[in-house]
Amino acid sequence: MTERRIALFGGTFDPIHRGHTEVAGTAARRIGAERLIFVPAKRSPLKGFSPVAGDDDRLKMIALAIDGTDWFAVSDRELRRATPSYTLDTVRQFQDELGPQTPLYWLVGADSVDDLVYWHKIEELIDTCRLAIMYRGGYPAPRFDKYVPLWGSRRVQKLRKNVVETPSIDLSSTQVRERLAAGEDVSDMLHPSVLAYIRARGLYRRV
Ligand code: ATP
Repeated sequence: MTERRIALFGGTFDPIHRGHTEVAGTAARRIGAERLIFVPAKRSPLKGFSPVAGDDDRLKMIALAIDGTDWFAVSDRELRRATPSYTLDTVRQFQDELGPQTPLYWLVGADSVDDLVYWHKIEELIDTCRLAIMYRGGYPAPRFDKYVPLWGSRRVQKLRKNVVETPSIDLSSTQVRERLAAGEDVSDMLHPSVLAYIRARGLYRRV
């Protein structure tokens, strides 16, 4: 029997853009995941600011962006927690629910490789799931050589093995927010329903 793989994709998704859906979608397909679950965070422990849009709006935008795709899903579990949570806690929760035979992949863009050292209990996280680093437009391909002395060669080998070569899409939520605030066109960056939602709710307008 082939193993059942699940890909989890965390982020602030403020808002979710084409880079998120296309790159993570390709990564999940390459991994052979039967499901890709978006896991919006209350806030990133590493970002010095809270998301601009509220939890409900970010969740709704993800639901709109993935509507009609039966193997994409969204989980609000991090948003429901009273305090911002760590990836390791979330991964453990999913693992408890799905059972030890289901390998969990946690997708991360290449821009975050050098942030991993600041992630909560990163070594345990590398051991607990398969951290899968995806290519990101505007950033170099992921390299881990300098982390061998820190995390050990077994962990670095695991990271290297799980790099997924994805199309490079040079796009960020920051760019989307800036363009919206400047009144510029973002229709090629977002799912049309997400853009309609942003317009209807008046999100990301300059105050
Ligand atoms: P911001 O500009 O607000 O920092 P962002 O576009 O980087 O946001 P996040 O929600 O912070 O988006 O990112 C969630 C995850 O998606 C991270 O792992 C990030 O590396 C990855 N990611 C975001 N955009 C891309 C992209 N264009 N290509 C590949 N990965 C991406």
